[in-house]
Amino acid sequence: MKQSLFLFVFLLSLAAYPQSAKEKGLQTINKQAAEAHVGFLASDALEGRQAGHRGGRIAAGYIKSQLQAIGVSPYRETYFQHFEAYKADGRKRYSVNPDSIAKWTAGKTYSKVDLQNVFGVIEGKNESGFVVVGAHYDHLGIGEAVNGDSIYNGADDNASGVSAVLQIAKAFVESGQQPERTIIFAFWDGEESGLLGSEYFMLNCPVTSQIKAYLNFDMIGRNNDESNPEHVVFFYTDSRPAFGDWLRNDIRDYGLNLKPDYRPWDKPVSGSDNGSFAKRGVPILWYHTDGHPDYHKPGDHTDKINWNKLVDITKAAYLNTWNLANSDAY
Ligand SMILES: [Zn+2]
Repeated sequence: MKQSLFLFVFLLSLAAYPQSAKEKGLQTINKQAAEAHVGFLASDALEGRQAGHRGGRIAAGYIKSQLQAIGVSPYRETYFQHFEAYKADGRKRYSVNPDSIAKWTAGKTYSKVDLQNVFGVIEGKNESGFVVVGAHYDHLGIGEAVNGDSIYNGADDNASGVSAVLQIAKAFVESGQQPERTIIFAFWDGEESGLLGSEYFMLNCPVTSQIKAYLNFDMIGRNNDESNPEHVVFFYTDSRPAFGDWLRNDIRDYGLNLKPDYRPWDKPVSGSDNGSFAKRGVPILWYHTDGHPDYHKPGDHTDKINWNKLVDITKAAYLNTWNLANSDAY
């Protein structure tokens, strides 16, 4: 075929099958970006990203710089939401609950940490209606050594989830189409110490009743069973059967290599940051690739991530988010 004729046929095919905005965004989600995000966040230099520690703050700064580079605006004035968590002496867990804090600070037997959530936002065409897509970025820091390694890198838990939220934010920008509803991209601090970041956000959220759904990631990069590498658990609020239908249809239509374990759940209030939303009546979706021997161990390393699965979960969740932000009802 002559080159000019080839070009003509090529352009004709583009006209016959115009790429939708949704597909344009989808194409930007890739393995290289996942590797870069997880590789940095789970490197030894970040010292396990413990909430309130140096590595955690570096992670927050990285996420902010990525949101800026993508072209996603801050939520309200800044990308950071600073907050304090308190712990009574002798207790293990921190809290952001105002009643507990008042009691402990009155008794002057407490310790305090300064934490920060990170947010980016894409404004929707409609004034009301929000969708939140989030993942915690903190992990366990430096702890007891196992085989000479004391850094709890948290590649799967939850650098993998952070990479997904960043890629979805970028895909929405690159799609070139403004969503109907506003999308808030959330990166929670202090999940490992008791869902602190998501709880603080919801305690102080002025628009709870306008949040249409929360999509959560917590650990989406490992194989629970090497003979079934396409396994992923998909939890969702069972009064929203559309969430399961969307995923089934998108896996088929886009040829995603995932075999979800569909788990509709009447009250999905535990396990991860979904709990802070579900207990206030917000419908949730949550991707999770299940437990493994390196869970909460120093061996949760970047080189053990199943990149193809991480990328396909990110694509599936982007397509879910597209529906959450644009569908009339669900
Ligand atoms: Zn986690």
